[in-house]
Amino acid sequence: MTQNFHTIVIGGGCLGCASAISVRRRLQRLPDTAGAKVCLLEKRVIGSGLSARHSGIVRAANAVPEAARLAKIATEQWRELDKLWGVPASFDACGAIWIAKDNGQTGNAKWDSLERQMQETGVEFQQISASNARAALPGFVNLYDGEVYYLEPGALQFDPSVVRNLLYRGLDTNQVEVREKTEVTAFERGKDGAISAVLTEDGERLECQHLINAAGPWGPAIFAGLGLSIPVSVEPVHVVNWLTSNREIKETFPIIADYINLAYFRLWRDNEIHMHQPRKRAIRETARAFAENPLAIIGADFISDPTNQGLGYTQIKVYEEIARRRFKNIDKTVYGSGYRSYFDITPDLKFILGPDHRVPNLVHCLGAGQAFKYTPVFGEIIADFVTGGTEYAKLAADFSISRFDEQYMANFWERVAGRDNTLQAEAASL
Ligand SMILES: Cc1cc2nc3c(=O)[nH]c(=O)nc-3n(C[C@H](O)[C@H](O)[C@H](O)COP(=O)(O)OP(=O)(O)OC[C@H]3O[C@@H](n4cnc5c(N)ncnc54)[C@H](O)[C@@H]3O)c2cc1C
Repeated sequence: MTQNFHTIVIGGGCLGCASAISVRRRLQRLPDTAGAKVCLLEKRVIGSGLSARHSGIVRAANAVPEAARLAKIATEQWRELDKLWGVPASFDACGAIWIAKDNGQTGNAKWDSLERQMQETGVEFQQISASNARAALPGFVNLYDGEVYYLEPGALQFDPSVVRNLLYRGLDTNQVEVREKTEVTAFERGKDGAISAVLTEDGERLECQHLINAAGPWGPAIFAGLGLSIPVSVEPVHVVNWLTSNREIKETFPIIADYINLAYFRLWRDNEIHMHQPRKRAIRETARAFAENPLAIIGADFISDPTNQGLGYTQIKVYEEIARRRFKNIDKTVYGSGYRSYFDITPDLKFILGPDHRVPNLVHCLGAGQAFKYTPVFGEIIADFVTGGTEYAKLAADFSISRFDEQYMANFWERVAGRDNTLQAEAASL
């Protein structure tokens, strides 16, 4: 059966859903395309890929100013999602406290400059005194001498299971045609090189004018058949939820971005403390994640393989040790649950957003690690690219896939196989 769509989106994670919703709403508003159909294809169910494992944190402060700007816009859009998607989002406006090392006389140049940059970007982010941090956090949070604290009052936290339902509501309200359990397996291309049809595992042939790749770490395998390289790999990360007494938690408390112990903590399901570690930032580590290429085994499907979900005893103990430094009550709490998950990463750890220069009608929407927070604004960016809008597309200027050209990739691979990979460099990193 052949069917014709204005736009097909591959991938029903938060980014694919946002892209489909925003494109469909934009088309509805334009006189020539009001009835144009948008179809979202998801090989499992909505929100079952990486979007099944996020921590629901929306923080705007970011050392990359363009990312901070996007996160600020996204935060405002989350707050008024009914205006953008026709459905409201529920969240906890808890704010975040960042904890960093006080370098004493040498000052906190990096953090001071982040504070300045954020103020220039319009993101509220300022240093607060230890006593103000103490007042904002529950008594069971340990604060130490030699720390400095920054407050980001605008940070939000979401319940990821509520987010999944919100994605379904957004898709339905905007009449996106959703096909779950439908795997894209191949493409047909027209004379101009554009993708004219998408073929599915069930033997369907779906024609499209525009195609959006929001398949996260599955993207490289899907487009390999067309000879397109999509430089995405994955980096493992572990999550633990500690059960605490609900007598100890009187009310919600701010997200804790602990840059001393390198861990994020948040209140989870009202009486658990949820923790995970951030992405590794060193280029060397990123290059290694690509070189080891976990996606080579069975593609990104290994992410959802049940044998790959559990945490080992040692990993839990490591997290217990980290958590115990920050929380006095961890000794007497219980390991509630945990899982292994993955950040999707690109060579420079930044997103891939916008048209692919090699295929006229292909647009990418890939997150690079921490993308739940950008969901609504990424949808608007993709809608601009598909419908010829300009307001949001310009915000993606630095994130085109064309930046990963041959020269870039050659330099990148040198970090794995070339001059950086010496015993000396190895010793320096120990
Ligand atoms: C532990 C952890 C905590 C995190 N916490 C946060 C956080 O607090 N805040 C934040 O902003 N971000 C966070 N993130 C990042 C966030 O989870 C991801 O950036 C985001 O979920 C990526 O969404 P996506 O739509 O790009 O990918 P996915 O959710 O992976 O969606 C891709 C979809 O494509 C589908 N697909 C694949 N192949 C095909 C095919 N051939 N045909 C059809 N469909 C296909 C897959 O089944 C999948 O559903 C966290 C990540 C981790 C691992």
